[in-house]
Amino acid sequence: MKQSQLFTKTHKEAPADDIAKNAKLLVRAGFVDKLQAGVYTYLPLGLRVLKKIENIIREEMNTARGQEILMPSLQPKENWQTTGRWDTMDDLYKVSDASGRENALGPTHEEIVVPLVKQFVSSYRDLPFATYQFQNKFRMELRAKSGILRGREFIMKDMYSFHRDEEDMIAYYETMKGVYARVFERVGIGATTFLTFASGGSFAKYSHEFQTVTSAGEDTIYICDKCRVAVNNEIIEEQKHACPQCGEKNLRTETSVEVGNIFELKTRFSAPFDLTYKDEEGKDRTVVMGCYGIGLGRVFGTVVEVLGDDKGLVWPRSISPFAVHLVEIGNTDDATVHDEAQRLYDELLNKGVEVLWDDRNLRAGEKFAESDLIGIPLRIVVSSKTLSSDTFEVKDRATGEVSMLSWEELLAVCKKQ
Ligand code: ATP
Ligand code: MG
Repeated sequence: MKQSQLFTKTHKEAPADDIAKNAKLLVRAGFVDKLQAGVYTYLPLGLRVLKKIENIIREEMNTARGQEILMPSLQPKENWQTTGRWDTMDDLYKVSDASGRENALGPTHEEIVVPLVKQFVSSYRDLPFATYQFQNKFRMELRAKSGILRGREFIMKDMYSFHRDEEDMIAYYETMKGVYARVFERVGIGATTFLTFASGGSFAKYSHEFQTVTSAGEDTIYICDKCRVAVNNEIIEEQKHACPQCGEKNLRTETSVEVGNIFELKTRFSAPFDLTYKDEEGKDRTVVMGCYGIGLGRVFGTVVEVLGDDKGLVWPRSISPFAVHLVEIGNTDDATVHDEAQRLYDELLNKGVEVLWDDRNLRAGEKFAESDLIGIPLRIVVSSKTLSSDTFEVKDRATGEVSMLSWEELLAVCKKQ
């Protein structure tokens, strides 16, 4: 894409009312726009990142045999009364229409997915399975001060699994730990993300969160470096001081953000909707469930918090809006530089490389600063200096390292995942 055609622009100043690093950088770089606290528009550059995160999650959920659906946000009050959550969930947005009918704007989808699957489950032969979606959630968050980390409207991947008994659910739950670890590895925060033991609510001893170490987080965790697991500060007191796996007492305290979680729901939602199946003996049994959430904006913002530096955003290749930033420098009266940039742009596109081409008539310093702010992993400079050379000048955004590469070498680094 040509940068001259991008309808958005970068901003010189960070918005005054946003204190979070992710919001400051993403708004300045033109990735997102804030409509109100906790409510953001994803602009062309930001949406490319969001879609890449979504695709990585989709691929991993599909390997876990998840079947993708899309459920509605507008949810009848009756469904929420069935589980008792109409009156107990304090962050629920409630809307009523002219006739006085009340609905919830979905903060999560157990109340919808359970009656949905009830239509299709009758026998043990119909189990197990898992279904998921990417969907906008609405929550009346009081603390919407963390940019896209905590939205009042935000996109979540929520998956629900359905099983004949606890044993089967737990086996699936265990595989999901590995699936989640792969998601966080692939989006570039694997090294700083820990499987964390958290409170299981009233149904299980623990639930598991995936917590990423960053000062932008709102949680405190205790990390066991030997086991690479952590304990959330919010869980029962005696667990805090010892690793639940090896008993180690010397744990490292860190501030962190929850990027995902997995939960044994057991029969908490299947029972109120009477979601049952007939076992081999023809006896009615209640379906056992698990649920698995990841916030896309939460992951997006966390990558910015962890990797962003004083110059701006720094994207891992896997979720960068483009693979390469092609920056042409020089007097636009000199057509040779522009022609060379055009030739390179066409050839890279031809080879399937995603390129953002800064074809605008601006000063070199301004272009470089903006390129650093946008944070694409590789920058190729075309100028009158590089014209006479048969190599390409390539700068690595994360390390600042500059290398001179042949066309073949250039293609190889551009295509590297
Ligand atoms: P938190 O403790 O941060 O409020 P939660 O326990 O309410 O999270 P869940 O309801 O389990 O979270 O949601 C699943 C996932 O959705 C979370 O792990 C997180 O990644 C994401 N998430 C939750 N709330 C928000 C929010 N307000 N904005 C963006 N993402 C969110
Ligand atoms: Mg919450």
